[in-house]
Amino acid sequence: MCPTGMETKSLAWEYDAVQRIKVGKTRRFSKQTFEYFLVLDFEATCWDKGDYDKGSSEVIEFPCVLYDVKNNEIVDEFQQYVMPFEKPKLSPFCTNLTGIEQHQVENGVPLKTCLMLFNKWLNKLIKEHKLSFVRQENLKYTGFCTWSDWDLGTCLFRECKRKGIYRPEHFSRWIDVRAIYKDHYARRPHGLLGALTELGLEFEGRQHCGLHDARNTARLVGRMVEDGVYFKLTKDITGKR
Ligand code: AMP
Ligand code: MG
Ligand code: MG
Repeated sequence: MCPTGMETKSLAWEYDAVQRIKVGKTRRFSKQTFEYFLVLDFEATCWDKGDYDKGSSEVIEFPCVLYDVKNNEIVDEFQQYVMPFEKPKLSPFCTNLTGIEQHQVENGVPLKTCLMLFNKWLNKLIKEHKLSFVRQENLKYTGFCTWSDWDLGTCLFRECKRKGIYRPEHFSRWIDVRAIYKDHYARRPHGLLGALTELGLEFEGRQHCGLHDARNTARLVGRMVEDGVYFKLTKDITGKR
């Protein structure tokens, strides 16, 4: 005897022969133009409010993670400690905030060398994952993501300018995750931690460790993708030197 319609359906479910079309709470990554994000978060020399020895900030930790949007995972990481030259001695405030110790920056490399090492890593990724900073057929569109404009718009921009270091053009366009967050959720989060908490995530690792901040920013981006947030470039300082 042939099974009824209902029986056919339940048999099909049992044998996993039903085409599952996800509706409702699903990852809406198909909407995204970016397939990968390069999420970075610099740590820099800093001082307590009343410190008389204040100077300009220099990058001391340069981390970046490659986040695969579709698979919701970090697929590669870069981390380099950088030696400050203008104020070579870290303030106790800075070590306390970032967890970065004097010996780590003394064993680090100058910013110019760090940019070369980063470039080498980036070129490897470009080849391995077929990445591109411009939208092109058969290539995976990627862009930098940061929490606020400070990393690329202030910190790296000013230090390269002060020191006469060439700043590669790909650092001139990025996505400020904070701006996208504010725009989508219509609220001002209390830092990266606040944004994670508001979306039900816990900060993993140590806050103000650049690599951990970058990883958590990537997790936040992933969570926002789940919410259907559309990511687009928010800043372009191309040509500004
Ligand atoms: P973050 O990515 O939030 O860890 O901050 C990046 C950099 O901003 C730090 O390495 C410091 O140089 C600076 N910074 C962050 N928070 C503070 C603070 N409360 N006081 C002074 N400088 C800070
Ligand atoms: Mg940061
Ligand atoms: Mg940080």
